[in-house]
Amino acid sequence: MPSWDLILTNARIATMQESDVPYGVIEGGAVGIADGKIAWIGPESDLPSRANCKTLSLHGRWLTPALIDCHTHLIFGGDRAEEFEKRLRGVSYEEIAKAGGGILSTVNATREASPDDLAKAAAVRLHSLSREGVSTIEIKSGYGLDADNEIKMLRVARSLASSSGISVSTSFLGAHTVPPEFKGKADQYIEMLCVEALPQAADAGLVDAVDAYCENIAFSTEQIARLFDTAQSLNLPVKLHADQLSDSGGAELAASYHALSADHLEYTSRKGVQALAGAGSVAVLLPGAFLTLGETQRPPVDLLRENQVPIAVATDCNPGTSPVCSLRAAMNLATSLFRLTPEECLAGVTREAARALALLHDRGTLETGKRADIAVWNIGHPRELSYWLGLNELSDLYIDGREIFRS
Ligand SMILES: [Zn+2]
Repeated sequence: MPSWDLILTNARIATMQESDVPYGVIEGGAVGIADGKIAWIGPESDLPSRANCKTLSLHGRWLTPALIDCHTHLIFGGDRAEEFEKRLRGVSYEEIAKAGGGILSTVNATREASPDDLAKAAAVRLHSLSREGVSTIEIKSGYGLDADNEIKMLRVARSLASSSGISVSTSFLGAHTVPPEFKGKADQYIEMLCVEALPQAADAGLVDAVDAYCENIAFSTEQIARLFDTAQSLNLPVKLHADQLSDSGGAELAASYHALSADHLEYTSRKGVQALAGAGSVAVLLPGAFLTLGETQRPPVDLLRENQVPIAVATDCNPGTSPVCSLRAAMNLATSLFRLTPEECLAGVTREAARALALLHDRGTLETGKRADIAVWNIGHPRELSYWLGLNELSDLYIDGREIFRS
């Protein structure tokens, strides 16, 4: 007779396991939780008899895996709301950049901010995500652009995990843009990242993956290959901002390093998609940036499906091109802008987002042995999670089997 910490009964469960059953649904389901893990899951009629277990009826509410936001730039100094307003008044990007705006204004503000200030500002955005059922989030550096400030950002990311209870996966994004002190010397900047900033951050245990921005306005495939070689020598997995504004061969480059994911992909070619399929990389789609930039070229969703490339969806939360602090909004945008189905969107913020962070072994679906990271919803069907824009139907959020939020 099992002795579990908690049993959730009378639940409708979208396990999101890959199966022929849409959403991996179990009707009339129950979940046994022990030591923060799912000890048992299935139809309630099959529940083994149990002694001394706390039991909670969910009265027919829906369970899904807690949500995972697998691509964010959550930590930054300041914001770019003034620039946003100026642009809408007709001021050009060029004039804004000349006046010290654009990404470098975020770099300056981030360098000047104390760790405490960065953490406080990011905690507000993190709270917005967790209130919608997010239990795991990826956070990138990339606004420090020198060893000390990149490390400062990554330490703040780790501290957010301990203060919030949300699980944080970090990515080193030193190769986000060339900082002013290396203007015109991108090769030397990459060299500094490879010999100084990345090894130091990795030594301090602050790096779960290495990311870079491959684009004609950022870094070339050769420069990123140099960085990825260093990542490999440090046994760190890589991921890439690829083909967002042009087909720069980013998907092929990511695939050649067996990247966890290639992200954006608006301009990725058939060859690029096939390369991702061969490498088992996840395609992370970011409709918030697509919307904000007024893009018209959609990522090749049909090709991704045809080649069975796993598709994830994320907020890309950042102050310039995707001021989005709602993963549910990103799901809705992925349906309307990219024509993903509601089931693809939910898989994209659970199972496939976990895969993109190399965490699928312990989260992303509801099955025995995985973490009890569970979202409870007041909905009639999981398709509603992509349907509504701005309605938050989260009832409870469990992380590691502990209820951290109840509406
Ligand atoms: Zn990004």
